[in-house]
Amino acid sequence: MAAPGVIAPSGLGSLIALLRDEGYRVVGPTVRDGVVVHDDLAGVDDLPVGWQDRQGPGTYRLERRDDEALFATAVGPHGPKRELFPPRQHLWEAVSDGDAVFHVVEPPAPDERIAFLGVRPCELAAIGVQDRVLLDGLAADRVYAAHREQVLLIAAECHQPAGTCFCASMGTGPGVVDNDGSVPVARADLAITELLEGEHRLLLRAGSEEGSRLLDAIDHRAATAEDHAARDASLAAATEQMGRHLDVEDVHDLLMGNLSHPRWDEVASRCLACTNCTMVCPTCFCTNVEDTTDLSGERASRDRRWDSCFTIEFSHAGPTSVRTSTRARYRQWLTHKLATWIDQFDTSGCVGCGRCITWCPVGIDLTEEVAAIRASDGRKSTS
Ligand code: SF4
Ligand code: SF4
Repeated sequence: MAAPGVIAPSGLGSLIALLRDEGYRVVGPTVRDGVVVHDDLAGVDDLPVGWQDRQGPGTYRLERRDDEALFATAVGPHGPKRELFPPRQHLWEAVSDGDAVFHVVEPPAPDERIAFLGVRPCELAAIGVQDRVLLDGLAADRVYAAHREQVLLIAAECHQPAGTCFCASMGTGPGVVDNDGSVPVARADLAITELLEGEHRLLLRAGSEEGSRLLDAIDHRAATAEDHAARDASLAAATEQMGRHLDVEDVHDLLMGNLSHPRWDEVASRCLACTNCTMVCPTCFCTNVEDTTDLSGERASRDRRWDSCFTIEFSHAGPTSVRTSTRARYRQWLTHKLATWIDQFDTSGCVGCGRCITWCPVGIDLTEEVAAIRASDGRKSTS
């Protein structure tokens, strides 16, 4: 494996050019309509250069910095899930041969090679969680597997967490964490640490043979002890600045032992059941299918699209929904994320990215909801 190296920020342009020459589509954070989204990157200038985000419950805004930092924005509403597990996916088509015999045609497996650049450590954890669900679980998904095989992951460690981030609580950031089994984490081929103190530079560490090859292929100098110390200091400061904290101690039993807690009614009185939190969550995987036929009856097709446990239709079983109230749907979401996900997949369904807090139109904050339940734990009053 190549030894860690250091490049100037402009050196990232050589890496992007190399990847594009090799046939990769390079996708990463870029500013559009006042938000950092994920889109194609043609060069360093497409990154959010000199921008910083201010995120809070129900609020997001970009501000100019007085430096040229490349990675001073935390996660926006998009992440690699949009490419790996697209919001809409054509699954198959049944075509009549004209004699009432239908042939099912599946689209070819995706073969696009994507290099995700600037993947945050919490995103690596989210991909690790989705791998467990969509590669290793009962619902193994061929489309996800095909996408996943092709991708290259170039992480960017966080030096400027947002006000809604709590990855440190979940053990998923702000630096790239090793996959020690406690949290499933996708391996980064390359990890970038942006260092702003003194000379503006990027520390690059290879995590795979492919990452090693790429590092060797671009001009760099060897990393020094000072560079590594600067990384340690940057990550320690980021941990210190983390906007939120979630006490995960005993959280499974806390939530499952408080299914009748009055807080569920209180949060339901604010929740709009709009589904935003599930649409932006990098680990949510619920989908529905839509079947359509043409007017001749000779062609039918099935598409899959993201769905949400916040819609009443999603919980239809037999003639009615099993979760008719917003209280039941919010409780299902939170208990699944932090409790029953662990029963199903041996990991939390939350990686602490904070998106569901930022993009909730009424600013519902799951860290506050858990803290409120913890503060008046119904198990204590009945024991
Ligand atoms: S539940 Fe919220 S904080 Fe946790 S991973 Fe999903 S969007 Fe991020
Ligand atoms: S918690 Fe917020 S984002 Fe989620 S469904 Fe309710 S109102 Fe929408």
